[in-house]
Amino acid sequence: MNNKIVLSVKNLNKTYNKKIHALRNLNLEVKEGEIFGLLGPNGAGKSTFINILAGLTTKTSGDVDVWGFNMDKNPRQVRASLGIVPQEINVDPFFTPKKLLELQAGLYGVKKKDRITDTILDLVSLNEKANSYTRNLSGGMQRRLLIAKALVHKPPIVILDEPTAGVDVELRKKLLDNVKSLREIGVTIILTTHYLSEAEEMCDRIGIINRGNLIALETTENMLNKIQTKIVKFSVNKKVELIDTLKKKLKIIKNNEKELIVSYEKNIINIQEIIDVIKSQKIDIFDVQSRDPDLEDVFIKLIKN
Ligand code: ADP
Repeated sequence: MNNKIVLSVKNLNKTYNKKIHALRNLNLEVKEGEIFGLLGPNGAGKSTFINILAGLTTKTSGDVDVWGFNMDKNPRQVRASLGIVPQEINVDPFFTPKKLLELQAGLYGVKKKDRITDTILDLVSLNEKANSYTRNLSGGMQRRLLIAKALVHKPPIVILDEPTAGVDVELRKKLLDNVKSLREIGVTIILTTHYLSEAEEMCDRIGIINRGNLIALETTENMLNKIQTKIVKFSVNKKVELIDTLKKKLKIIKNNEKELIVSYEKNIINIQEIIDVIKSQKIDIFDVQSRDPDLEDVFIKLIKN
């Protein structure tokens, strides 16, 4: 990843019907080659943001630059720089993937000799289905076809709106692999998702929006470090007597003859101190299970605040 900014949003506002503030002074930048995740609860403003980029909704105020082109001054270049993968499956059931991609390329004015239909079908693993009717494709295949459709004009930036909503685990993996291969060929990716584990796995940076406000924007790693709480469970053969100094530093969730479950802040105490106390009481530890905070914890904490 380099530091070239390929999408820049400044003071973006959207008000529907003069009263619903769907986006409030949104500011963000996306860097070339990254996978940027936009997360937020329902009604946060994610679709509004994507619809503005896609040219489906007009912004109320603010500046949007895509690939160096200003949305107000060069709307056509902005459109040419973006590949938008919608949430809804909107492909004609009576076309084949190949035909559909050719038509889409025609819409974007891509000359026959410049078309990369087969390469795209390969990229989304639909080459074997190139000539089947779309209606005979599975839901997951149809979603991959949507990705393919967004690629015909070779946009440097691809935006995916909830790419895996309602897709089963196996297909989700395949879809996400397709997204990763897009990144490998240098495409910058912006995606929205409801699945926080997915964002955690995929995204280099994450923006969280709530009620139209951007409330966090960090690398995924920093985002996860926002929460220091760790939960750990010890399987033991005797009840542990927790000494006062330790009690002050952690929260006891459960403590009996079989197990001790505590939560603590990683920056205040480390697990070895707890183990030392248990060991000093000649208690055997059979098993230790710990859970690091995940994006879900961070998300909940931020949204609550
Ligand atoms: P998200 O995609 O994060 O669920 P949306 O962008 O769809 O959020 O919605 C943000 C806010 O704008 C919500 O309060 C929603 O009801 C409102 N909204 C979205 N689209 C319209 C519209 N076409 N007309 C009026 N209000 C809308």
